[in-house]
Amino acid sequence: MGRVYLVGAGPGDPELLTLKAARLLASANIVLHDSLVSREILERISPVAEIIDVGKRCGRKLLTQDEINALLVSYAASHEVVVRLKGGDPSVFGRAGEEIEALRHAKVEFEIVPGVTAALGAAAAAGISLTNRRVASQVLLSTFSRGLDANAMDWGCLTPATTLALYMPGPDYAEVSRRLADAGLPADLPCVIVSSATGSQQQIRWSSVSALATEEKLPAPALMIVGRVATQQIREIGDAFWHGERSEAAIQRVSVS
Ligand code: SAH
Repeated sequence: MGRVYLVGAGPGDPELLTLKAARLLASANIVLHDSLVSREILERISPVAEIIDVGKRCGRKLLTQDEINALLVSYAASHEVVVRLKGGDPSVFGRAGEEIEALRHAKVEFEIVPGVTAALGAAAAAGISLTNRRVASQVLLSTFSRGLDANAMDWGCLTPATTLALYMPGPDYAEVSRRLADAGLPADLPCVIVSSATGSQQQIRWSSVSALATEEKLPAPALMIVGRVATQQIREIGDAFWHGERSEAAIQRVSVS
């Protein structure tokens, strides 16, 4: 009986792989990966390993989740090191829960190897801090409800001091803008869209809840960070704050109702 490793590949930059992930890729007998995993990371897989793309993207399903679960269980019976490689972190919108359940049920040994989730990669790419002790005390990783198996976003958790990292925002930014506004977020609340964070095709667009409606769409994968921290101006305010020169004018520029 082999062991299944649920491994996070990080957001794109191969240098953001953990040492453990890199070691497992180099020693794997078989790797089942998602489409989100970058080519540079796939190049680190052992040349003798079998590689299977089980990715699903833009609605083009290659394998169902049940089929992937069954594959993991059956490969564990014939391979020593089975790597299930996922973009970002396996436990954030990565369906790891269903795979863990299937592995437990089949009594297959498994281990989770965390990765840098897209929200962290996007924040780093944009040069912003997700929390900030003056303006953001909590971070919400969320997505819109889409499809039957998705749970509705719990808008009740949103407060003016929440930073929202919105995964899978979809192509319709006008709809996103409307849904954020309907949730009570102020029109001028900053928002940054990061596409292919930390990868070679990275793009960053600074916007706001209302301006989002007319923004040109960035290529997938893209993530939105919404909140008072999602601006470059906060740095000026930060400097003023730390030097004891906190002015009402500066605070009002990023104030939310
Ligand atoms: N498990 C992954 C998320 C998978 S859901 C993680 O922890 O990051 C897929 C969504 O993640 C995409 O629609 C996009 O919103 C986001 N995403 C993944 N990689 C990204 C990247 N490099 N840049 C921006 N967003 C990314």
